[in-house]
Amino acid sequence: MVTGLVLLARYRTPGRDLPGLLDAGTFAAAVTMLAWVYLIGPRVRGGPGWLGEAVPLLGHPAMDLVLFAVGLKLLLGSGRQPLALFLLMGNLVAVMTADTLYGLQRLNGAYQPGNILDVMWLAGSLALGAAALHPTMARIADQAPAGDVGLGRCRLAVLFGAALVAPVTMLVQYARGITHDIPVIAVTYALMFLLTIARMTVLLSDQRRLAITDALTGLYTRRFLEAELPIELARVRRTGGLLALFIIDVDHFKAINDHYGHPAGDRVLAEISVRLRGTTRLGDVLARYGGEEFALLAPNVHLDELSVVAERMRTRVAASPITVNADISLFATVSVGACAFPVHVSDQVELVGMADRALYRAKALGRDRTVVWDDVASATAVPGDGPSSAADSREARETRETRNAHDIRTTTA
Ligand code: GH3
Ligand code: MG
Ligand code: MG
Repeated sequence: MVTGLVLLARYRTPGRDLPGLLDAGTFAAAVTMLAWVYLIGPRVRGGPGWLGEAVPLLGHPAMDLVLFAVGLKLLLGSGRQPLALFLLMGNLVAVMTADTLYGLQRLNGAYQPGNILDVMWLAGSLALGAAALHPTMARIADQAPAGDVGLGRCRLAVLFGAALVAPVTMLVQYARGITHDIPVIAVTYALMFLLTIARMTVLLSDQRRLAITDALTGLYTRRFLEAELPIELARVRRTGGLLALFIIDVDHFKAINDHYGHPAGDRVLAEISVRLRGTTRLGDVLARYGGEEFALLAPNVHLDELSVVAERMRTRVAASPITVNADISLFATVSVGACAFPVHVSDQVELVGMADRALYRAKALGRDRTVVWDDVASATAVPGDGPSSAADSREARETRETRNAHDIRTTTA
């Protein structure tokens, strides 16, 4: 049963559920201590005769504690909680309660075969059978969605309660004049405290990661990029070199939304961000800058590399169709504007402004192209598939834009 529950927990949250593990560890530590103080300890201290009864009287509570820990891990981990899961937990609760009462009754010499405990054990088995037959059993091993890192009110309240178990037990034992369990209680207390600190640390780092991560694309947020900008500028001022900013905007994205719907648009944005991320180097900051706009902050780029980096992003996005679902795959293109501090601009506001103007220029020149800002008055275009003259006639631009709008090619699987 322990193996089965561990496997189930692994299917539901493969290798990434530290909060669930820490919470389960905290509760399990409290319950293990209680079991030791009131059930196992008195039996062990009962005299040399206890060894003969070790399996029914110690094996049951010990294995129950292991079951309790893995069952808790399953219940407290993220993921859907279908009825079959609760029936399974019902089995664990019934069997563990009956086992515990059985241990206590044996300890007091009050156990009579055929008493109410048999009903509890049978009820537990019924719950297990019902869990196995319930239709929701088919979904019990479904993988949990990523990013579920909450600490709900209910769990917080139970954690508060668990934190009180050790000190209250210590006071009760003190009042009864029993001191031999003090070391066990003290160790449990320390362990639970360490687990709580670990839990808070995980919670804080998760919250920080969420605060700087865009939910749809997994890229950094604009706020994070804007916080990094002055730090990187100060570094470049100190150490020399270049700091480049690229702003990347999806071409005719509204048409994609209009043709295929907003969810399809979301899927396209997610895939574009994967492709863009594939072109970045260690130390680059790639962020979702706005709806369908991205920004790449790249330190230590050479001036002649600017157009190479920009073109690499543009061509990687356009290289192959994006699969939206089984029926739809489409081509998307991006336009890129770039400039660098200190060759093109002298401060942060100008860096963002000029990269934006370079992007605007790339759009005006026909989209699906990159423009590196060379000076405030003019820009050089790296041609995609359209003319690169800045003195583009209005008619020519409109014709090209219409063509580009139709260039959102669709292949049907
Ligand atoms: P251009 O080539 O000039 O950039 O044209 P465009 O259609 O890409 O630009 P426009 O600014 O007109 O449209 C951007 C669209 O992006 C409008 C908005 O509805 C859509 N959008 C913004 N954020 C999201 C999002 O998170 N998901 C989806 N699906 N669409 C979004
Ligand atoms: Mg756009
Ligand atoms: Mg835009």
